[in-house]
Amino acid sequence: MSWQNWSGKQVARDATIFTPRDSTALTRDMPNLKTPLRPVGSGHSFTPLIPTDGTIIDISKLSGVISADAASGLATVQAGTQLRTLGPQLRDRGLNLPNQGDIDHQTLAGAIGTGTHGTGRGHGSLSTFVQGITLITATGEVMRIDADSPDDMLNAARLNLGLLGVMTEVTLCCDTAFDLAEESRVMRADEALEQWDEIASAHRHAELFWFPYDNRVILKTLDLVTDTHADWPEAQPLPAIDTQTGEDVMFEAAATTIRFFPSVKQSIQSALMDNLAGAVERRRGPAQLIYPSPRNARFNEMEYAVPAAIGVATLKETIAAIRKADVPVLWPLEFRTLNGDGIWLSPAYGRDCTTISIHQYGPVKPEPLFNVAEPVLQDADGRPHWGKLHTMKQADLSARLPKFNEFCTLRDRLDPEGRFLSPYLRDLFAA
Ligand SMILES: Cc1cc2nc3c(=O)[nH]c(=O)nc-3n(C[C@H](O)[C@H](O)[C@H](O)COP(=O)(O)OP(=O)(O)OC[C@H]3O[C@@H](n4cnc5c(N)ncnc54)[C@H](O)[C@@H]3O)c2cc1C
Repeated sequence: MSWQNWSGKQVARDATIFTPRDSTALTRDMPNLKTPLRPVGSGHSFTPLIPTDGTIIDISKLSGVISADAASGLATVQAGTQLRTLGPQLRDRGLNLPNQGDIDHQTLAGAIGTGTHGTGRGHGSLSTFVQGITLITATGEVMRIDADSPDDMLNAARLNLGLLGVMTEVTLCCDTAFDLAEESRVMRADEALEQWDEIASAHRHAELFWFPYDNRVILKTLDLVTDTHADWPEAQPLPAIDTQTGEDVMFEAAATTIRFFPSVKQSIQSALMDNLAGAVERRRGPAQLIYPSPRNARFNEMEYAVPAAIGVATLKETIAAIRKADVPVLWPLEFRTLNGDGIWLSPAYGRDCTTISIHQYGPVKPEPLFNVAEPVLQDADGRPHWGKLHTMKQADLSARLPKFNEFCTLRDRLDPEGRFLSPYLRDLFAA
């Protein structure tokens, strides 16, 4: 059977995929599986975290909320639960995740595995919601990690790329169920960047999308619903995952045109923005319906988190570098905020960040674009998103992430034979 990630860039031909029925089967069979062992979620990471000549472990059968307590906000969930499934199950129990990213196709384990995040001042990644993890180690031992575990283990395990074991259960700290009001509108880029501090402080969640060859941005904000949003349209149910929306089809067509006729990139981006500039888009609804957006036109992505104080300047420099190199691209850059945390491998370890994401159309080689942007992001003391393409080596990561070496030591202690290490991950994490 062959396996490939969402973008199609990472492929495992003749893959052996083990799909345990339950955690008992996983515990029993783990010691005998062919290595390297790579747990997989929905395959939405762009980096080669999964490809293997050993065994891909698919825990999609471990799905659903196990228990939830609306009073404490604590919910224990099977780790293979897709966020799309998790949202309504939490909502039925009076809870919502405090924040989410652009899509809800990921599994909980996969999202935590790479530190997936949304935006919003004061809001951390999904890993920061995790209060406890049950994982099965390389030898089949069941291990529970929580705030009482020694050596700050919870902060090591809350973002672990599947290097410490296979997560089977996760305890999350959720918010009481809430509704959100979403607004998207076009602004001049210079104006939005000048006001970014006030904008980010004024809204629960705020982010910018900037087509690099146009001088306007899309500002998207999300706020708790109040009486002032009473006449905003209700959100429609989410389209089935993998449904191509009209926007996806339009993006594919525009991206294909730029691929073959790069000189039209600026006029296409300006036409798209002209079209959006006419109207302010608004909707309201339950948080789990508002956070995700359909994203089915395939792309590859790079993302770095840079210190919040230089986020705006770094975004401007990245756009300038792309323009100077005149690289063809359709997708807008995405600019978000991410709260600092204490998670060992987190790009936001010890500092508040802004994240800058660059996307290239799936069929187009991403390197010409990413090679232009990455030095700018690295020079800004950027740290890469683990699920998104980057060229950092072990020495670079060790220099940028204060707890990187401690993570490697813990990894070696829990998996001394390196059963979870593929060649890619061995280069990054083996001593
Ligand atoms: C269209 C699109 C939009 C995206 N939007 C965002 C966004 O808004 N914000 C953001 O931060 N990222 C975003 N991403 C990146 C994505 O959220 C991450 O790459 C995420 O890890 C994918 O989850 P997954 O379930 O597909 O996991 P996978 O990609 O399958 O796996 C990710 C990691 O988790 C590990 N893992 C999976 N299951 C387990 C388990 N049971 N136990 C231990 N380890 C496990 C894997 O080994 C791997 O290292 C986006 C990606 C795409 C394709």
